[in-house]
Amino acid sequence: MRPPRFTGSFTQQPPIPEDAIAAAEAVMRSGRLHRYNVAPGEMSETARLEEEFARWQGARYCLAVASGGQAMQIALRAAGVKPGERVLTNAFTLAPVPGAIAGIGALPVLVETTDDLVIDLDDLAAKARFSGAGVLLLSHMRGHIADMDRIEAVARAHGLRIIEDCAHTMGARWNGRKSGSFGLAGCFSTQTYKHLNSGEGGLLTTDDADLMARAVILSGSYMLYERHGAAPPAEAFAEVRLDTPNMSARMDNLRAALLRPQLARIEGNLAGWNERHDRIAARLATHPAVRMPSRPPQESYVGSSIQFRVPALSAAGCTTLLSAAAERGVELKWFGAAEPAGFTSAHTSWRYIARHELPQSERVLATLFDMRIPLTFSLDDCDLIAIHILGALDATLAEGGR
Ligand SMILES: *Cc1c(COP(=O)(O)O)cnc(C)c1O
Repeated sequence: MRPPRFTGSFTQQPPIPEDAIAAAEAVMRSGRLHRYNVAPGEMSETARLEEEFARWQGARYCLAVASGGQAMQIALRAAGVKPGERVLTNAFTLAPVPGAIAGIGALPVLVETTDDLVIDLDDLAAKARFSGAGVLLLSHMRGHIADMDRIEAVARAHGLRIIEDCAHTMGARWNGRKSGSFGLAGCFSTQTYKHLNSGEGGLLTTDDADLMARAVILSGSYMLYERHGAAPPAEAFAEVRLDTPNMSARMDNLRAALLRPQLARIEGNLAGWNERHDRIAARLATHPAVRMPSRPPQESYVGSSIQFRVPALSAAGCTTLLSAAAERGVELKWFGAAEPAGFTSAHTSWRYIARHELPQSERVLATLFDMRIPLTFSLDDCDLIAIHILGALDATLAEGGR
């Protein structure tokens, strides 16, 4: 007999903690929502968040902004990337990443994806050589971290500077070192589906005083940079203050107030995601048709979502699996669809960038499935979901889903 249909919601995050609601209420009662609107001697919620995130991340500087996409755009611009310049990035990523590159008038050069869902380092080296790009916007897509030792070697060999997209790796590590601390800058998102939830929001970290000074001005600081929580001293702004445009991408105190209590308990949440992820992964891995991406021992991931491939399936088989899972109440996403759906997207749907030949990435994405794991799921939920995925897969294969 088939186990009961799963009835949980794949888009339901936990509620905002009560102390965060109280902090947000206090901001609203004060009326001082703008980050630079402070009472005498007061440090704004946004400045405090910057200070606390910098400390947690182990970065010298932190800037809170309006979104993860804005963090990337500001980082690229602050790093001196000019319109028309080529910027390397992952073919397997989400639309805000090529969007950030296009947003500053630069040209994305997409790099192939391996079977383990990370950037292909041979293709990276080849494209670094021929593209003339000076920056790699490295997207740790869905929390999969490439061999950072080898990436650093490729970057050194080709004079590439790295900006990290850590939308899915806030709290993840490579060899004990935090994701976001390898390159010139780390970019994080606090959008609802990431590891902290303020609806929208982003954080940019760096150890580079000059880059941070430019980033602060770009974010829209109105020359109030001395009211920041983790920015370099005023001297660092002398050179750039009048030569850098104000792009108005600030965070506000209401969002920062929601985020600070969440940051204080993030470690528990990271562990909660991994418990759920590993529970599902262990079951899926038992099926001979399923290929789980391998996770090298140096990688400490955050399993806020799970990915698996079923290389034997045809495109029709993949859609059968999607609907068989949906019938059982399980919301799988598929990266092989011709049109972007929900939060998936493929490079062919970014028509505003140059066409790319990416046969390897297309092969990998053609049978790649993806599922969110919100913390509202219990471990029993995770068991049931995994049983349903395997049931849906067996039904698909029995129908000849190849
Ligand atoms: C969500 C996301 C971003 C950007 O975050 P926003 O805050 O939505 O702009 C960047 N990269 C990846 C891979 C993402 O999933």
